[in-house]
Amino acid sequence: MKKLALIIFLPLILIVIVLFYRAQTHFEDKQYKVEQPLALKRLDEDGAVERFARAIQFPTISHEDETLFDDKAFTDFVQHLENSFPLVHQNGTLTKFNKYTLLYKFEGRNSSLKPALFMGHSDVVPVDEETLEDWDNPPFSGAVKDGTIWGRGTLDDKISVLALLESMEYLLSQGLQPERTIYFSFGHDEEIGGEQGAQAVASYFSENNTTFEFILDEGGAVTQDLMAGVTQPLALIGVAEKGFVNLRLTVEDAGGHSSQPPANTAAGIVAQAVVALEENPFPADLSFISMTFDAVGSYTPLKTRLPLSNLWLLSPVVKSSLLATPSSAASIHTTTAVTMLKGSSKSNILPTQAEAVVNFRTLPGDNIKKIEDHAKSVIDNPRVNVESFMGNESSTVSSTNSSSFKLLERTIRQLDDSILVAPYLVQGGTDAKHFDGLSNNIYRFLMIYLDSNSVSRFHGINEQVSVKNYIQAVQFYTAVIEQTASGDL
Ligand SMILES: [Zn+2]
Repeated sequence: MKKLALIIFLPLILIVIVLFYRAQTHFEDKQYKVEQPLALKRLDEDGAVERFARAIQFPTISHEDETLFDDKAFTDFVQHLENSFPLVHQNGTLTKFNKYTLLYKFEGRNSSLKPALFMGHSDVVPVDEETLEDWDNPPFSGAVKDGTIWGRGTLDDKISVLALLESMEYLLSQGLQPERTIYFSFGHDEEIGGEQGAQAVASYFSENNTTFEFILDEGGAVTQDLMAGVTQPLALIGVAEKGFVNLRLTVEDAGGHSSQPPANTAAGIVAQAVVALEENPFPADLSFISMTFDAVGSYTPLKTRLPLSNLWLLSPVVKSSLLATPSSAASIHTTTAVTMLKGSSKSNILPTQAEAVVNFRTLPGDNIKKIEDHAKSVIDNPRVNVESFMGNESSTVSSTNSSSFKLLERTIRQLDDSILVAPYLVQGGTDAKHFDGLSNNIYRFLMIYLDSNSVSRFHGINEQVSVKNYIQAVQFYTAVIEQTASGDL
């Protein structure tokens, strides 16, 4: 009897020992050790805030409806930049793409060094009329009150444009002569896809065979309480971004009166197709979550470390727990979202055509062709026509071992060593997607602090950033640009 108990329990005991052993040893401390904090630059902080706040006042809105485009807002915004940053405009060459996308070049002395590209965008999303009253300060007021700058673009993404120019203006005032060429690219239509802006700039570089040592765009930020088990502020640097594609499912039918319907109407068949897609989601892939946790796992409590250091056994448990919440589910698989449905125009008319639109956000590794094939195979009905429209392939994945990634990591930690740094997968799209292939090192990060409140302010109500945070973003860019321009990465 004793022997039998031993045979049953010994393997279990061994497994538990292995689980705990791995939880204690699997994650190493990979954070950059700060020996010396960054020497902060003596910036003209009041002037910087004033220039930024003024920039918020131009309603440079990207509308889906092109006829609403406000030329004057963009012209005035560009003029404001020219007035505010004289050294940038004297020392750099400015090329405009489709009038309002700005490409600045600061020529380096050493042409053997690959250039670096810093990106941002000047357009913002519209403000819903009905929500205007909910703003504590109007969205285009650029109000500065109690240490906070208010308005559309303070987080997304005039902050990048202004902070980058502020950094360069400062460095030029200190006599900067870059060894490495530095480019700034500021799109004016990121919020509607970036075709006129970033895509035009990327094509220009592609035609000229220019490739980059690294590219830095918006995307990640310093987050608080967004990742389970991580209590310190966590800087997430995007090393890849998801792609997307829409599939339109259509079914044609003879139509007729609803009193004599076939067993399945066109709308019914589309509904079946939609159900088939929802019931056959794309599988979960833990590689990106693992990449993030590898960097910070040693700082998390045992209950977080135990499953994540034992994916050999517990990956089904981890997957199902992450799939249970839409936000974490999105980070581990290609998502399927049925967004539009159409049947006939009247309750007693059989549809001659029924239609559904399904939006997919693809994980790196999945591509548009694969999505189409998957859809056709699970729908498995020749009457359903499947065609894709709009879409962008998911990006390649940049390395965390490059000297440019290390530069970002080091600078963040030197500015605030309470911050942990980790790579991650960006779920939304950025203008950087147009530059895939132009650099092996494309990163997405902006040095702002975000808690769960501020996350909802992106494209939302009461978008704002603290003065302190804005100045820190300028310090961050200044340090990164200075080091990059020196040629010594
Ligand atoms: Zn943005």
